[in-house]
Amino acid sequence: MKKKYLSEILDHPLLGKLLPVDFSPLKTCSFNCYYCSLGKTTKMSMEREEFYPVQDVFQEVDSYMQKNDHPDTIFLTGSGEPALYSKFGELARKIKKKYPSITITAYSNASLLTDPEVRKDFCECDIMQFNLNAVKAEEFRKLNRHHGNVKFENVLDGLKKFRTEFNKPIWVHSIFGDNFNISEENIIGLRNFISELKPDKYIIRKFEIEDDVKPLTDETINFIKSQMDSLDCECRYMGFN
Ligand code: SF4
Repeated sequence: MKKKYLSEILDHPLLGKLLPVDFSPLKTCSFNCYYCSLGKTTKMSMEREEFYPVQDVFQEVDSYMQKNDHPDTIFLTGSGEPALYSKFGELARKIKKKYPSITITAYSNASLLTDPEVRKDFCECDIMQFNLNAVKAEEFRKLNRHHGNVKFENVLDGLKKFRTEFNKPIWVHSIFGDNFNISEENIIGLRNFISELKPDKYIIRKFEIEDDVKPLTDETINFIKSQMDSLDCECRYMGFN
């Protein structure tokens, strides 16, 4: 039977064999990031919904696990922002209860993190990953093109709150694009915010080369590195060679 909620296993450099699990229609998000690999956001939302029955999603995961080698990691991704799935916590809990040795992770844009229910749901994960590309409102808006109800300050506050409540690893990702979020003010601001937040890993990437976005200059790359290298947390540069 064709899989509805699962994608092909991926080889992830940090998480091993990774099984992506989807639970929202393509593409449901509170952002419409310029670089999004899923394409344009067609359902821009801040409302949590049970897009598909949680039992159906769990059953497909369960049936896959009975018939195949187990992955190292289950990636609760959704086709967009995972916090928008109102049954996220229940799904993570069911999977963890049945398959306790498998790492569960998700990657969120942090836009709903001031909602205590979202933070509680994300606490079911073993590793939580967040994207944060800017701490300057203008650069944040330009790159993320977010829903009108997303409050930039709430994203930063939500991350700080979650850090105090989640005692497992947090990874933060920043993606830099020429002409978007590379002002010195933003790069230094990000460094200061990350220094305060203290994630377990900070992963720094740049846009895949797009036709209409120039690659970062060596000067910009060197400036980013000069700032981030002084952080206390583990810093990983991906695609920065
Ligand atoms: S937050 Fe993630 S899923 Fe949403 S538009 Fe940005 S990159 Fe795409």
